[in-house]
Amino acid sequence: MRERIPFNWPHMTGKELYYIAEAHHNGSLAGDGPFTKRCQEWFEAKTRCNKALLTHSCTAALEMAALLLDINPGDEIIMPSYTFVSTANAFVLRGGVPVFVDVRADTLNIDEQLIEAAITPRSRAIVVVHYAGVACDMDTIMEVARRHGLKVVEDAAQGVMSTYKDRALGSIGDLGAYSFHETKNVISGEGGALLVNDADFVQRAEIIREKGTDRSRFFRGQVDKYTWQEVGSSFLPGEIIAAFLWAQLEEAKAITEGRLASWDWYHRALAPLEAKGALRRPIVPQDCGHNAHMYYVLLASEIERNAVLSELSQHDIGAVFHYIPLHSAPAGRRYGRVSGSMEITDSLSSRLVRLPLWAGLSEDRQARVVDVLSKACRV
Ligand SMILES: *Cc1c(COP(=O)(O)O)cnc(C)c1O
Repeated sequence: MRERIPFNWPHMTGKELYYIAEAHHNGSLAGDGPFTKRCQEWFEAKTRCNKALLTHSCTAALEMAALLLDINPGDEIIMPSYTFVSTANAFVLRGGVPVFVDVRADTLNIDEQLIEAAITPRSRAIVVVHYAGVACDMDTIMEVARRHGLKVVEDAAQGVMSTYKDRALGSIGDLGAYSFHETKNVISGEGGALLVNDADFVQRAEIIREKGTDRSRFFRGQVDKYTWQEVGSSFLPGEIIAAFLWAQLEEAKAITEGRLASWDWYHRALAPLEAKGALRRPIVPQDCGHNAHMYYVLLASEIERNAVLSELSQHDIGAVFHYIPLHSAPAGRRYGRVSGSMEITDSLSSRLVRLPLWAGLSEDRQARVVDVLSKACRV
């Protein structure tokens, strides 16, 4: 029988249970124990952010960002429509209004040239999404933001271990958010982190994450009791999650290299199909060091994309598409608005197919995917 090739295979390093046993043995299971500290210090050293704080998801880190930026009802947040719902939802929870801007045809990232036209007196922040772990044009975006007094949040959910001009994604804007969801590169099932780059936000970030209290300062002996300081919630993961994540961080370089090997293999194997005009492969600009989060192809039309997806599915290959652009989703229409045309977003999202990819995906399996894809394209 033909073996099914899943879309994703969560990569395990082998040490996860060992570290979980250690956390169990330590008897320290709540948040901010030794494993959480180790993970946070790893991110601080690796990304040079001011402060890294583990959260229970990237969604939670984005919600913290909205609280830190004091988003009030009616405040506008400029962002792409071609993204996961959490990018917008975190700000809508505070009454913010997402203002959707079209993406670039090459990277599928927010088009930095269209941001200025979306700015109004109500604009507060720009939220960029580094799609597929390939960086947005951060120099231009930071310059526009500074000129207009706007904050920048990087939704770097897909960008762990990626760089822009040798700087870690998530460490360039005022705040950055990572995801360790099972489908990402470095995982803990559910999990995330907030990178605080602007030092002025560090103290409030700790308070917001600890139910609005100064408990972190209390634990460091900086105050003699902890009290309710401001609006917050519980955004910290327990030690079991942090222990799992630590096993992954130790192998983050190897995981990234493994994914890059499979990414490069697809890229070479699909070059002839691109040359024949059957599909378009991902484009990675010069300044971007990417982490092989995703391998996708763009077909000529939605009809062709759907035919290719159905062919792959019939051959037991777990290929998927995404995203339904937020501006066209029911909640996106209710809570947000568009700035300018969404032509590229609408076109790309209807023509995209993501191929199976994980660290250790065998060449045999990749060859099967490319073979079915080639036949489905009928060129
Ligand atoms: C995965 C993802 C998220 C959500 O991450 P969670 O950790 O599942 O909350 C947010 N934004 C983008 C762009 C993502 O890819």
